[in-house]
Formats: sequence, structure tokens, C-alpha cells
Amino acid sequence: MQTDHLDSQLAGIVVAQDRPLLITDADEVLFAFFKEFERYLNANGTYFNWASFRLNGNILDQQTHEAIDNHVVRELLGSFFDRHTRSIPMIAGAAPSLQRLSRHMDIVVLTNIPHAQRADRAEALAANGVGFPVITNEGSKAEAVRELAGRTTAPVFFIDDSPGHHTDVAGVADHVMRIHFIGDPRLSDLLGPAEDSHHRAFDWEEISLFIESHLEEAGHSIVP
Ligand SMILES: [Mg+2]
Repeated sequence: MQTDHLDSQLAGIVVAQDRPLLITDADEVLFAFFKEFERYLNANGTYFNWASFRLNGNILDQQTHEAIDNHVVRELLGSFFDRHTRSIPMIAGAAPSLQRLSRHMDIVVLTNIPHAQRADRAEALAANGVGFPVITNEGSKAEAVRELAGRTTAPVFFIDDSPGHHTDVAGVADHVMRIHFIGDPRLSDLLGPAEDSHHRAFDWEEISLFIESHLEEAGHSIVP
């Protein structure tokens, strides 16, 4: 199913073969996912304990202060995305930076949310002035990145908050410039740079400058 979903979505994405490409995650990179999800947890009898950068094991029951089961975490995530994907606010600077970067490069949003919420996510991006193509994915992002990155001869960039995705992408497309960014400063403080990323960024201004300086170094003209 995953392969079918991915193949059909990839087939619908246009990437210019001589244009730089940015493949960006959405939650905690473009959207302030965690702030909203924390509110949702608190409204549903639970809370996040800030022990480490992961959901499983760190969401506790408000009454017992015991970690809730992983399957309940999955259910909460599912119902959260079902109800709130269209209304999660964007991270500061994300929309203007994407608009600016889109003058130099193609942009694809690669997001691990349920396929049923693809339209909601696309709508939310469009409503914020950044209606770039969206691919919904499950698990590793390696296959999608390998396929998309293979379509252009120009530099390719990948942004994600989860270290595991950097490792997976490095394994199949090591030439892709990998930027590790965690939008929520409280979460960002819980984690050092992803081992398999090239750069740890702390805001969108920095991400834009990093990408533009790499494009210039690679001989691509940058519109000021
Ligand atoms: Mg994310």
C-alpha cells in the first residue's frame, strides 16, 4: 500500500531537471505541530513530560502520571491530524522563506501524516501562501527523496526535525544537503544535531541563507 501511495503521488510531482530542489518536512519544520499537539494532549487527559525528543513513553496520564501505551499515542496523533491539520499555525519565517526560495528552486513538502489528510495539509499550505506540492509518506523518507533527487542535476536540499530521516536519506542519496531543524525551541533544546545531517539550523532565516549560499557556491544565480 505504501509503495502504491508513494508511486502515484510521485508520478504527479513535477521537478525541473536543471533546477535546484528543496524537499522539506512539514511538522516542526513548516508547522508548529508540537505546540498544537501539546494543547490537544492536555485537553485529552494527558501531558508531555519533556524527558526526551520522542512521543512514545513521554506522554503521561494526568491522573496516574504513567506513560500511556504507544497505541494510544498513535490514536491521539491520528485524531489530532484528522481534526487539526488545516489549522496548525506555521512556524515563524517558514512561509516567507519558502516564497523567497521558490524563486531559485522547486519545492516539495514530504510529510509523514495519514494519506487521508493530504488534502487538508495542501489546503493549509495554500492558505498560508505556500501551496507547494505535498507527498504524504509512511516510515522512511529514503525512497521518496532518492526518487525526487534523481530527477534534477542541480543541488538538492532536505529539511527534517527527526534524526532518523537524515540517516535514512544519507543511506540512499548522500549528495542531498541535509538540514536538521526543530521549530519548537523547547524541543530543539532536547536534541543535538542529527548525526547524519550537514547542518543544524535554528530558524528559517538561517535556513534560507544556508541554502542560498550553497546555491551560489554551486554556480546558481541568486535573485537578491
Ligand atoms: Mg517533522
